[in-house]
Amino acid sequence: MTKVLVIGAGPAGLAATNTLVKNGISVNLVEKKGILGGQWQSYGCKATDGTCNVCNVCLPFGEIEALLDNELVDVYLNSEIKEIEGKPGDFKVKIQQQAMPVAADDCIACGKCLESCNNGAVTACDDRTYPQYYTIDKNKCSEGCHECEDVCPTGAIDLGSNTKDMEEDYDAVIVATGSKAFDPKVSAWGYSMQPGMISAAQLEQEIKDDKVPSLDSAAFIQCVGSRNQRGNNYCSRVCCLYALRMALWLKTEEKISDCAIYYMDLQLPTRQVQELYQKCLRAGVRFVRGIPSEIRPSAAGLTLRAEDLNTQEINESTYQRVILSVGLDSAASNADSLGLETNNDGFFAAVDGNEGNYSSREGIFLAGTTQAPRDIAASINHGQQAAVQVIDVLRGRVEHVG
Ligand SMILES: Cc1cc2nc3c(=O)[nH]c(=O)nc-3n(C[C@H](O)[C@H](O)[C@H](O)COP(=O)(O)OP(=O)(O)OC[C@H]3O[C@@H](n4cnc5c(N)ncnc54)[C@H](O)[C@@H]3O)c2cc1C
Ligand code: SF4
Ligand code: SF4
Ligand code: SF4
Repeated sequence: MTKVLVIGAGPAGLAATNTLVKNGISVNLVEKKGILGGQWQSYGCKATDGTCNVCNVCLPFGEIEALLDNELVDVYLNSEIKEIEGKPGDFKVKIQQQAMPVAADDCIACGKCLESCNNGAVTACDDRTYPQYYTIDKNKCSEGCHECEDVCPTGAIDLGSNTKDMEEDYDAVIVATGSKAFDPKVSAWGYSMQPGMISAAQLEQEIKDDKVPSLDSAAFIQCVGSRNQRGNNYCSRVCCLYALRMALWLKTEEKISDCAIYYMDLQLPTRQVQELYQKCLRAGVRFVRGIPSEIRPSAAGLTLRAEDLNTQEINESTYQRVILSVGLDSAASNADSLGLETNNDGFFAAVDGNEGNYSSREGIFLAGTTQAPRDIAASINHGQQAAVQVIDVLRGRVEHVG
């Protein structure tokens, strides 16, 4: 039977898997974390006054539900690819699975392990956790601690470090290993992190967890880590959109009275996004065309000095909080083990164009932000497109491109 390996269970990998199984193709979905969903796991809904602002955050729920209990899918969590040998129709892949500290089938989600842990190593399950079980990050455990193992009523926890090595055969491979939020702590982006500054990735988590503090003022700074020789040269494509939705949400939820966005230019590619921009203006979000040249601490918070490029005036304004709109960074550090080439931006190179799916190695396809920055909806589309390309090649309808 035809079998495809999908590596990475973010929105793109989930969508690729679903498209393949809908076409009767068996899939092994290999995810290095103990949980499905990728970066989406920490994002919150940005609907305002009950109106959807199309942030895409509800889309992956449907993708996860669609593959649950599908007999054509085997999910390997906590697993990584060690080696891929062979050729299309006959790939031999070595997979290593780290033992899961919590046995999903035995966990009854009672929460006793969470209560017992003083190190923040235990994460409760929520409506996004598949399967419904608690997870433990052993990197956070203190040495010799077995508190959670001792309190677990079902014996679901085993903090041992067993690994399981597997070798499987596949006809084709889809790489959907994604990207990562730019780390603003790296010195390359121009300002240093200081108290009162957070990255937009942290704000996403606060919105999801309903833990956004109420403040008088906040400013977003766009293009952090993107479009800059000191970070990445490219536009990350997602940060203008999420910043508009977050700013609108902060104003509408009355979390922030004065909210400003400092930008170079705004990426507003569709009518829907232009309407979102108009909604922000109506809600009182201020737009300052100019990236601050200086950020310094002051008694009332952080003072931003910036030239407004529309008026050529240099202004200073102080905010309680500064939110860095970080871009998407390549996470293609596994290029060598997969035998794939990367492009100038550090993402996996597609040999069939900027939005392509064909990697530099025949029989291996690319899906989502592993290939270039894109939002969740576009990553899902790209994953579906990768699966369709695989099906076409496997059914002999087209030759491999490249
Ligand atoms: C701060 C911030 C906010 C954002 N907000 C939004 C928003 O509101 N709406 C929106 O549409 N988009 C948003 N985005 C963009 C969004 O993060 C991406 O579109 C989306 O995560 C891309 O999905 P993906 O499947 O390509 O990759 P990812 O989400 O990165 O998933 C990749 C998966 O592959 C796994 N993986 C990685 N390496 C390996 C390996 N070697 N072996 C096995 N598994 C591996 C990872 O653990 C992960 O589960 C935001 C981005 C940022 C930075
Ligand atoms: S698309 Fe975003 S804003 Fe709209 S309902 Fe879904 S999660 Fe909420
Ligand atoms: S104590 Fe055991 S059963 Fe209860 S949530 Fe933790 S792992 Fe699950
Ligand atoms: S999407 Fe907007 S904030 Fe992000 S890099 Fe492009 S222009 Fe800058």
